[in-house]
Amino acid sequence: MPRMSTDSETVLRRALEASGQRYTEQRAAVFRFLRATDVHPTADEVFVHVRNEVQGISLATVYKSLETLVGCGLATKLTYGDGSARYDGRTDDHHHLRCVVCGRVVDLPGQIDDREISRLQASADGFHVTGYRLELNGYCADCAPAPRITAQA
Ligand code: ZN
Ligand code: MN
Repeated sequence: MPRMSTDSETVLRRALEASGQRYTEQRAAVFRFLRATDVHPTADEVFVHVRNEVQGISLATVYKSLETLVGCGLATKLTYGDGSARYDGRTDDHHHLRCVVCGRVVDLPGQIDDREISRLQASADGFHVTGYRLELNGYCADCAPAPRITAQA
């Protein structure tokens, strides 16, 4: 079983404790997997990986563990209009690319200029802005529509 680095384990123990939650091997395994991947997995995908590591863990436990991590600020939940959700172990400010065909979500390395956000915020008259979410939608390299073959004249 891959050991979690002491730092990572300490981060988890402290965050759980601060939220009045217990440290469990199931939560630790879910946290480890989420920290180690950048695929923004669904709960089912997390389950498929974690069940190899923790004997007898159920999908319900994985789901609850994910929600606990989100509640402790150790993960972010990305929800979509169709009711699906993905989880992100990265909690620093960053943006995403999302494929509208396969649903894949990828971190976008670029940043948006803070002044642009301030400018938008200034136009939100009387609304108290606490954050924002930026996601670029389109086709990933695997799902890109094939170039149209034009008939030769
Ligand atoms: Zn795709
Ligand atoms: Mn991300």
